[in-house]
Amino acid sequence: MTINADAQELAALRSLSASIGRDPHLTQAAGGNTSLKAGDTLWIKASGTWLKDALAEDIMVPVAIPPLIRAVEQRDPAADQPQGFAVEALNARKLRPSIETTVHALMPQRVVLHVHCVDTISLALQADCEAQVAKRLDGLEWAYVPYRRPGLPLAQGIAERLRPGVDVLILANHGLVVAAETVAGAEALLRRVTRFLARPPRKVAEPNLVALTALIGRSGYRLPADVEAHAVAIDPESCRMASGGSLYPDHVIFLGQGSVVARPGEDVMRVTERCGTAPVAILFPGLGVLMRGDASAGANAMQRCLADVTARVDVAAKLNYLTAAENDELINWDAEQYRQKLNAAGN
Ligand SMILES: [Zn+2]
Repeated sequence: MTINADAQELAALRSLSASIGRDPHLTQAAGGNTSLKAGDTLWIKASGTWLKDALAEDIMVPVAIPPLIRAVEQRDPAADQPQGFAVEALNARKLRPSIETTVHALMPQRVVLHVHCVDTISLALQADCEAQVAKRLDGLEWAYVPYRRPGLPLAQGIAERLRPGVDVLILANHGLVVAAETVAGAEALLRRVTRFLARPPRKVAEPNLVALTALIGRSGYRLPADVEAHAVAIDPESCRMASGGSLYPDHVIFLGQGSVVARPGEDVMRVTERCGTAPVAILFPGLGVLMRGDASAGANAMQRCLADVTARVDVAAKLNYLTAAENDELINWDAEQYRQKLNAAGN
């Protein structure tokens, strides 16, 4: 590839990234990331930035591939801090590369797309995920990767499952990775896989906005940014799934551990008293969802994601939740604290 061809592919990738970022069924908030390998350099989305901004802003960071791969192979903790591998001479905005940089570096293909597709996540949190995906992706070269924390642990989990020719990864309790030699090829594969994995959501009634508004009282809580977010509280099956705990990492990052469900007769003030803290979101069964007044755009996007994901999960399926230790390692993780800080500052 010549420098010109790389520049054209990077421009095409930015355009595709922006379109992926605008689709809440493919990515939410600062989640998801895309990359292009140009020689020994990996151009990858910066941590904390939103894919939807890929055209309006320069959100791609250059990273040196060979030393990063060596660090992953040697299980060097430095691989969990990909900013140490950024090519600073080309990193004008001094952004940090995505915390999922190692995932992209490990895939041999030139273009890698990682999305938090709601259909994929809805399958990826079912205990029977592998069998369900096998039925839908028959004929494709795909691999199932058990849940690991994003970053070095996930990269090692992928390395254990990667076989020659694999260009689709289903990440348990997390999302989807597709890879190809060109941006057009990666986009075509993404469209194909997401079409195969698509499931219709269960239909729900409209939120009860009058009742919700009355429950706010003087609490300062608000209606969620997207009306679609209410479905997780209105649909009894979705509400049951949400009440069981945390289902995927970005939920924990943006909304905290699990979901807070109001008990009969409770308003916002009573829920807050019972919890001893004001949750970012409260689910009122049968009525809808309320968000704390200072909830970020990212928190709003993730609350809608929870509704979109749970509405697609098979109601008879056994679900895998993140364990207490898995919740803790997300909440106390330096790289995530950095991403949250950017989220709070920018959005
Ligand atoms: Zn991810």
